[in-house]
Amino acid sequence: MHILPMPEQLANKIAAGEVVERPASVVKELVENSIDAKSTEIKIEIEEAGLRRIKVSDNGAGMEDDDAEIAFARHATSKIRNENDLFHVRTLGFRGEALASIAAVSQLIVKTSTGKHAGTILKLEGGKLIERDKGDARKGTEITVDTLFYNTPARLKYMKTIHTELGHISDVVNRMALSNPEIRFELFHNGKQMFKTSGRGDIIQIIAEIYGVSVAKKMIPVSYETLDFSIKGYIAKPEVTRASRNYISTMINHRFIRSIPLNKAITNGYHTLLPIGRYPLVVLHVEMDPILVDVNVHPAKLEVRFSKDKELYQAVEETIREAFRKQTLIPEVTKKEKKERPQSTQHTFSFEFNRDNDTSTTQEKEQEGVEKEIINNRDTYTSAQDQALETLGDYQSASKVHLPTDDSEDLGNSTDNVDKQGELNKPSAERVPPMYPIGQHHGTYIVAENENGLYMIDQHAAQERIKYEFFRDVIGEVSNELQDLLIPLTFDFSKQEALLIDQYQEHLKEVGLFFEHFGQQTYIVRSHPQWFPKGFEEEIIREMIEQIMEEEKIDIAKLREDAAILMSCKRSIKANHYLNKEDMFYLLEDLRKSTDPFTCPHGRPIIIHFSGYDLEKMFKRVM
Ligand code: ADP
Ligand code: MG
Repeated sequence: MHILPMPEQLANKIAAGEVVERPASVVKELVENSIDAKSTEIKIEIEEAGLRRIKVSDNGAGMEDDDAEIAFARHATSKIRNENDLFHVRTLGFRGEALASIAAVSQLIVKTSTGKHAGTILKLEGGKLIERDKGDARKGTEITVDTLFYNTPARLKYMKTIHTELGHISDVVNRMALSNPEIRFELFHNGKQMFKTSGRGDIIQIIAEIYGVSVAKKMIPVSYETLDFSIKGYIAKPEVTRASRNYISTMINHRFIRSIPLNKAITNGYHTLLPIGRYPLVVLHVEMDPILVDVNVHPAKLEVRFSKDKELYQAVEETIREAFRKQTLIPEVTKKEKKERPQSTQHTFSFEFNRDNDTSTTQEKEQEGVEKEIINNRDTYTSAQDQALETLGDYQSASKVHLPTDDSEDLGNSTDNVDKQGELNKPSAERVPPMYPIGQHHGTYIVAENENGLYMIDQHAAQERIKYEFFRDVIGEVSNELQDLLIPLTFDFSKQEALLIDQYQEHLKEVGLFFEHFGQQTYIVRSHPQWFPKGFEEEIIREMIEQIMEEEKIDIAKLREDAAILMSCKRSIKANHYLNKEDMFYLLEDLRKSTDPFTCPHGRPIIIHFSGYDLEKMFKRVM
C-alpha cells in the first residue's frame, strides 16, 4: 500500500462535497463574498433552480488581476492573515474554501475589476483555469456558475425538485436580505424577478417582501441596549404564530445564525403569550464586539459560540418582554374605574403550590403581576378599547391564568393527587361520580365535593375538554362537500409559500381548496370544505399551508385535530369568569361525561382531587 497526497483537483472536489451541498449553498457562498467585498447592490440570477446557472453580480471592491486567480486556490483568503485574526472576524467568509470548491464542480466564469484599470475575466472548468482575458473596468465582481455538479453525477442525484431547490435558494436570499438591510438585493429565476429589497435599511419592508404585508403589519419594533449588546428588530404580536421555529431569524453582527438557546430566550420573552407548540415570527439583529463571538465552530458557520452567553440570552429575553410590557401597559392607564366584584368566600383551606425551583427574577414576578392585573380587570374595558389587548388576554387566559405553575410536574409532585394513571381506563362517568360545587376560587377554579373527597377544577380547561370532544366529533364526520364563502378570502403569502401553493395545487384541490391567483403573492379562496369550522376558515387554511411547508404533505386527520383544539380553546369560558352554582354543576356534569376529563387538549391537568384520606393526612389526623 502506498500513501500518496491527493492531486489538488481531487482534494478540491472532495472538499466541494462539504461546502457545496446544493445550489443554494453556492448562492450563499457567492453572496457572502459579495457582502464581504462591501457591495451595496447584489443581483442573483438563477436558471433551473441553479443547476443550469447561478450568476451573482455585485458592485463591491473587486479583485486585482493576479488576486483573481489566487482566489480559486484552496485556502486562499484575503480576510485573515494569522491566528489572531480568527478572534476578530468581521467578514462572513474566512476559510478560503468556497471559490475553490465551487469551481471544482462547475464551469465558472469570473469577471472582476477594482475599477481602477481594465478588469480580468477568467474561465475555469472543474477548477482548472482554461482561459484568461481582459475585461471592462466596471468596479465589482460577477461570477457565473454553470452546469453545477456536471462532473459529480452522484451529487445531482440528491437534488430534489426544482421547487425544493428554489425554495432553499430563496431561503438563503431572504436571510441575507434580512441580515443586511443596507444592501439592495435582487433575485431572478428563469428571467423572472422573484424578490427585491430597497437597500435603504428598512427591515419592515423586507419582512413584508418575505412574509407578506399582512404579517408585516402585525410586527412590533423592539430595541434594547446593554453594555455589551445592542439588540434591535421586529417581533410579531402573539396572534401571529407559526408551527415551527423557522420563522425566528437571529443575526449576530449581520451574520444569520441558528441557536437553540437564543430561540429559547425569544420564546421565553413571549412568556405565556404563545399557545403551546406555536412559535413567533421574529427578526432580531444583535450587534456585539466580534471578540465575544466565535464563528469558527460550525462547518456552515450557522452556529456560533458566545463568551457572554448567559448575559446575551437574558438581554434578548428582556428585549421581548420589555416590548410587551410597553404594549400591555397602555390599556392599564386608560382603564375605567375598577368594577367591584363579589369576593369569593374564604375557604377553610388554602393550598400553595410549591415552586421549589423557582428561579424567576423579581422583574419576572413584577411582569407576571402586571399581566395578572390586566387580566383581572379585563371585563372593565369596553370591547372596542383595545382589540390587541383582547387577543392578548385570550392567549393568557387560555394558557396561563388557570395554571399556577409552568411545570406541570410540580403539580404532580406536590399533590400526588392528579388521579390519572390507574383510573384512565374506566369509562369516565364511573371514574368521576357527580361533583357538587361548593364555590369558585378567583373566578378560575371550581371547588367541588362528593363522597370521594374534594376537587379543584380548572373551569377553562374543563370547558376546553368538553368543546374539544364536541368539535372533534363534528369535524370528524367525513364529507367532501364544499361550502361557498359569502365573501371570498384573500391571502397574502410569502414568495416561498406562493411557490408551494403552485406546486401543491393538485393536492390542495384534492382536499377541497382552490387557490386563485390574484396578483403576485395574493390568492383568493371562494369556497372551502364543509368541515371547516365557521369563523376559523382563514386560520385552518394557513395551518394547511404551514403543514405543507413543514411536512411537504397534507394530513387531514391532524388538521381536523388541530382545528378542534383551536376552536375549543377560542370558544371556551375564560378564567376570571364568575359562574353561578347551576352553571358550575352543568359544567362539571359535562366534564364528567367526557372521554378524558383529566387533561385538557393541550395536555394540562383539569381536575385535582384530594381524597378524604389525603385531607386527613394533610391535617395530620392520620399519619
Ligand atoms: P473566503 O471568503 O473564505 O475568503 P472564498 O473562497 O469565498 O474564501 O474567496 C476567496 C477570496 O476571493 C476572498 O478572500 C476574496 O478576497 C476574494 N473574493 C471572492 N469573491 C469576491 C467578490 N465578489 N468581490 C471581491 N473579492 C472576492
Ligand atoms: Mg467566501
